[in-house]
Amino acid sequence: MAKQTVERYEETELYRLRHSAAHVMAQAVVQLFAGDVRVAIGPPIEDGFYYDFELPRSLTPDDLQAIETGMRRIVLGKHPFVRREVTAAEARAEFGAQPYKLELIDGLVSGAKAEAGERVPAAPAITFYTQDTFTDLCRGPHLEHTGQLNAQSFKLLSVAGAYWRGDEKNAMLQRVYGTAWRTPQELKDYLWRLEEARKRDHRKLGKELGLFHFSEDIGPGLPLFTPKGELLRHQMETYVRETQTRYGYQHVWTGHIVKEDLYKRSGHYENYKDAMFPPMVDDNITFRLKPMNCPSHMTLYREMGLHSYRELPMRFAEFATLYRYEKSGELSGLTRVRSLTQDDCHIFCTPEQVGSEFALALQLITEILNRYRFADYRVRLSLRGTAGKYVQDPEKWEQAEAALRTALDVSGVDYYEAEGEAAFYGPKADFMARDVLGREWQLSTIQVDFIQPARLGLGYIGEDGREHVPVVLHRAVTGSTERFLGVLIEHFAGAFPTWLAPVQALLVPITDRNHGYCQKLAASLSEAGLRVDWDGGVERMNAKIRKAQLSKIPYILVIGDREEEQGGAAVRLRSGEDLGAKPALEIIDLILAAVAAGT
Ligand SMILES: [Zn+2]
Ligand SMILES: [Zn+2]
Repeated sequence: MAKQTVERYEETELYRLRHSAAHVMAQAVVQLFAGDVRVAIGPPIEDGFYYDFELPRSLTPDDLQAIETGMRRIVLGKHPFVRREVTAAEARAEFGAQPYKLELIDGLVSGAKAEAGERVPAAPAITFYTQDTFTDLCRGPHLEHTGQLNAQSFKLLSVAGAYWRGDEKNAMLQRVYGTAWRTPQELKDYLWRLEEARKRDHRKLGKELGLFHFSEDIGPGLPLFTPKGELLRHQMETYVRETQTRYGYQHVWTGHIVKEDLYKRSGHYENYKDAMFPPMVDDNITFRLKPMNCPSHMTLYREMGLHSYRELPMRFAEFATLYRYEKSGELSGLTRVRSLTQDDCHIFCTPEQVGSEFALALQLITEILNRYRFADYRVRLSLRGTAGKYVQDPEKWEQAEAALRTALDVSGVDYYEAEGEAAFYGPKADFMARDVLGREWQLSTIQVDFIQPARLGLGYIGEDGREHVPVVLHRAVTGSTERFLGVLIEHFAGAFPTWLAPVQALLVPITDRNHGYCQKLAASLSEAGLRVDWDGGVERMNAKIRKAQLSKIPYILVIGDREEEQGGAAVRLRSGEDLGAKPALEIIDLILAAVAAGT
């Protein structure tokens, strides 16, 4: 069985270890500044921890070194973490000179904000954790003693400004970020991944590879794609389109602007109006830029006439550019944009077909993820659970959840269940894929929908001759072309597999004499369906080869007099590997074989 159980981060040893590291760091900072420190909050975060301080001066890189040294001393002291329940009065007495802690205590007493900023029930117990000379207002949990931290397994990474409680009206504090692991090797591996992620940052690589730009003149979050970038997009979309066609999908097109009323009827207006661009009004009709396709595809299904159960399932697919009003502070390269092209599909089926349609979509998604060389992925199956928010049609829910579970068991894909996480309209499966650096990205999704089809008046005539409401499966494989391209750039470090690379082969003539033959060879490669370019510039050959390698072009074909005479080229790979001189036909076969193999 591929079903897994997943431990919550909050319950793991790493979480306790990082929380304890935050307290040890706070003690080291207090000691470094001889008590002249106002401490705020210090929670564990993904891969590490931070702590916010108000200090008499800005921290320098030397300070971070000194704090780390202080932390090691505290670790070696093996001081126990001692938990103590206190009254509000005791808590206030302890933190008399600490205004941020006093504010937190007030919050705890009135049941407002807890340490990590979330709401807690009124009047919880106030607890202290003390190690050595440092006491913190804290709910825990912690290690037993500081010696359980490995003195060589943590590192402070950076300092950043952070407003108290994230509110710019409040004081600006200094936030020190650190990372902590179980062993020195784990720390080393993490620091390597961090450095590698920096090198692979798609915003940096996208510029170096000449794939896309953002312009002040266009606006934030609205990317422009260069010819090479568009070639990549086109390859990605063509591949998914062809695969979908093979799986029985039909492609449709539904435009960019829709009457706002439709979103009111579908229920999107209520839930997504903040993510929509402002309305456009013409002749008393209010329009919106399309933020999602579902209502358009469902309307198209309805307008195509009365359907019979014999026509189902119907699978509509579209590469639709949608517009979402993301806050400008949340925009980030291609991974968070305001214009995004979704590979969106809606499958209209009978309730009995939900299981087989879900299984087919699973198969399609795994085929595509494998092609993009995401070997490590798992599915989060979000179910209704026991939460009371899913009131309608309990039988339909049960049937659908059982069908999804069975399909996942049969498929052998790793999955885990998240009770109470379903969308309000039905259960869903999200694919979480790990890239080569081990980072998990949410990519594909399949969502069952019992609600919208009825709201938008969809129907089909069943075997019984009566009208029924179809179930709709919402399905996206790559999510959006833009975000997926950002993920791919980092996954492949810009070295796209040959089938995807915007330029598959670059021809490099050694002298001007070879230009003519170079063009001829380029033409025969193009005729074989390959994407080629040639470098007729004045730089020396080695400089051209280096440039081609930096551009991550899979094949570099060098042509001198001898190669021209023999009707071929000397073949180099972007890795630097030299395959030697080969005849033209052999080169074409070699590249076509790589395309077919997906390498
Ligand atoms: Zn704490
Ligand atoms: Zn949808």
